[in-house]
Amino acid sequence: MNFHVVTIFPEMLISYLNESIIGSAIKNKIITVNTYALRNYTTDKHRRVDGKPFAGGPGMVMWVDPIVKCIEKIKEKIQKDYNKDYLKYELKKEEKKTKEKFLVNKKPKKPKILFVHFNPGAEKFTTNIAKEISQKYTDIIFVCGRYEGVDNRVSEIYKGLEISIGDYVLTGGELPTMIMIDSISRQVNGVLNKINSLEENRVSSHKVYGRPEVYKFKNKNYKVPAVLLSGNHKEIEKWKLDTNK
Ligand code: SAM
Repeated sequence: MNFHVVTIFPEMLISYLNESIIGSAIKNKIITVNTYALRNYTTDKHRRVDGKPFAGGPGMVMWVDPIVKCIEKIKEKIQKDYNKDYLKYELKKEEKKTKEKFLVNKKPKKPKILFVHFNPGAEKFTTNIAKEISQKYTDIIFVCGRYEGVDNRVSEIYKGLEISIGDYVLTGGELPTMIMIDSISRQVNGVLNKINSLEENRVSSHKVYGRPEVYKFKNKNYKVPAVLLSGNHKEIEKWKLDTNK
């Protein structure tokens, strides 16, 4: 799965996405995250990418032209990367005739691109949507709006998914992008280990406790429920189901 992020703040994503499970998935080449600094695609001499909206309004609107230029470059890159991988695959297939089977790369999937447009009032993002996206697409392009939002012609040209991450308004699309990348990546094969993968069958999990068995705070003892220390697996499973948060 390849993620492509159009943003005026590429640095915002780097520190978060390079850590922990998502960071490992990137290192292990299970997913890729590519950021595109939108100001590199403007023809404005002051590198501006936004201006006043027609008919007035409180904030600035992000211009359509730099975003279209950037997305067209991303589409080119996706096609080029696919061609390169396909060529490598064909070469390996040739090698297969003389060498061992395990040397053959997996056949690359033909690119299937999803365009994501954020809108705080749109349909809400869920784990089911993340699952569906992870199964249907190879590349996802996120357009991170700022200010009053993105010129609507971007979503008219690149029809895709209009989505909100919740009923509140944020200052930009970078956090929603990180949330979606995180959640979609968890659904990609090989990103989570087997135990964590089981978690994906449900949205919430039961209550959890770690060491110590008894925690004393302000003269009160906070104990781990006895059933979890009992070793009775049937009772433990029942307790887990009952306390599913
Ligand atoms: N009045 C604008 C509107 O209602 O769309 C507010 C734009 S907001 C300040 C700037 C950008 O942040 C939006 O274009 C969108 O990309 C992103 N954004 C803000 N809240 C969001 C949410 N709940 N879900 C997804 N994206 C959001």
